[in-house]
Amino acid sequence: MAAHSMVYLKGMINLKKRSEIIKKFKAEGGQIAAIAPYHYPKALFRAFNILPVELWGPPKLNTLESKSHIQTYICSVVHSILTFHLKGNLSVCDYILIPHTCDSLQGLGSIFLDFIKPEQKAFTLYIPRGRRQVDIDFLSKEIEKIYNELQKATGTTPDKNELNHHIETEEQAVSMVKKLIKNRAYLNTDDYTFYKTIRSKEYLPAEDFIEIAEEFYKTYKIDTPLNKKPVILSGLLPEPMEILNVINEKDGLVAGDDFATTGRRLYPKSEGQNPFVRMAKSIVHSPPDSSRGDSVEARLNHLIHITEKTGAKGVIFFIVKFCEMEYFYLPHLRKGLSEKGIKSIVIDTDINDELSQQTITRIEVFMETLK
Ligand code: SF4
Repeated sequence: MAAHSMVYLKGMINLKKRSEIIKKFKAEGGQIAAIAPYHYPKALFRAFNILPVELWGPPKLNTLESKSHIQTYICSVVHSILTFHLKGNLSVCDYILIPHTCDSLQGLGSIFLDFIKPEQKAFTLYIPRGRRQVDIDFLSKEIEKIYNELQKATGTTPDKNELNHHIETEEQAVSMVKKLIKNRAYLNTDDYTFYKTIRSKEYLPAEDFIEIAEEFYKTYKIDTPLNKKPVILSGLLPEPMEILNVINEKDGLVAGDDFATTGRRLYPKSEGQNPFVRMAKSIVHSPPDSSRGDSVEARLNHLIHITEKTGAKGVIFFIVKFCEMEYFYLPHLRKGLSEKGIKSIVIDTDINDELSQQTITRIEVFMETLK
């Protein structure tokens, strides 16, 4: 099949702003939950007519306010979340969920519950680090605990059928992300537009996301793959997003995704009748992931698998500065990739800063070394 070399089509999908989505959802009688990164039972909230809106920062914030509560060596994601709250920007939310994803988020959970005591109801959620039956049992109980809290807070009691209905809708939304990532080389658009679209799942109701993702697929689908240099991105999130433009300008394409925002949340479909167990099973069986305590071997095999599938010759580890759980894996992953002839580079980022010229040059040089 001939490779496709046409210029990318840009920005044709009309994505509404997060603030408009929130306003509309509330106007229709719903409530809003702010969710810190990154595994959580989305369907559970929707069954209570609560829209989960994820908090990956937000980026490009001046985080002066958080500095009096947390140390400067805590990552910029946590600083931004706290600053965003202290500036009063979470007042539109009715609930706050802080999963124990890492030590820093666990600390943030304690700050919220014990010191700041926000007017919204705040929950924490412990995600187990293993993949055994006991981990599924534990997480089901954690999810059921939040169900009971939401039942008290809202005065409603969604039944098994309602919960299962939302589980299936959320699973359909995940399937759309899987389809778009799998077909990335057959979608004629730049990576910035691609990521803006797939990441809209972080704040859109699943039904709206499915519609937008289907339209996106139809709009950009081509029959022959883009003739670009495939590269894999790994880390927590693609911020600052300018990295995507740098890659595209060097004739590259993000062909594989190992980001917490996206690739690490391509959950398998669940089955069974108990909705708490279904939600727990999906999360426990997520793709290999540092926050789940997976082995170096499992993560390495997963990265090798993505590079083989996409033909990528390189992996860019785009790491939020001070994110220890990511750094721990890097020497082992890079060694294993290098033994397979796969190049890699580590780029440290702060989600509130612009990409420095030095970083841009490093990415450009790396892209040039990929054959
Ligand atoms: S970037 Fe790393 S350290 Fe920061 S909140 Fe996310 S997982 Fe935790």
